[in-house]
Amino acid sequence: MRCPVCQCPDNRVLESRSAESGHSVRRRRECLQCTHRFTTYERIEFVPIVVVKRSGDRESFDRSKVLRGMVRACEKTGISPLQLENIVDEIEVELQQRAVREVSSSEIGELVLSHLRILNEVAYIRFASVYKQFRGIRDFVETLNHLKESTQLADSAPDSQMAVVPMGMVR
Ligand SMILES: [Zn+2]
Repeated sequence: MRCPVCQCPDNRVLESRSAESGHSVRRRRECLQCTHRFTTYERIEFVPIVVVKRSGDRESFDRSKVLRGMVRACEKTGISPLQLENIVDEIEVELQQRAVREVSSSEIGELVLSHLRILNEVAYIRFASVYKQFRGIRDFVETLNHLKESTQLADSAPDSQMAVVPMGMVR
């Protein structure tokens, strides 16, 4: 990194701190030749994630699209928009850390479900009903039973709320 004033390549770091909510490192530097002080930012190189859709079409990962699907499933469940944003953040970070740059849309759906499952059962069932393209009440009941079994295994909370309504019957 050359000094912007004298072009000298040698400098020392005076201070390093996390910036842009942890997405970059800001460094305050001093030129060893002219003592001019300047700032540099170090960022993780962003590599786009490609989503392979059911149809086989490819498109770049769109966080607002994932968020929209979740917002619909989470209406009137008490889940805040911030919580949903955080889930999308976590999913995006997880995808960014993978060696493979391609992910199927169904994998993204599963990732969303794994987060919603911890957060809210109603939202989980609603999202599953859209994402798994439920064809009838049988698909719905199967998913519900599956959730019920795994929830009972995970924690035996006595007041587990199972009074859920599938998407489409809400309004
Ligand atoms: Zn300099």
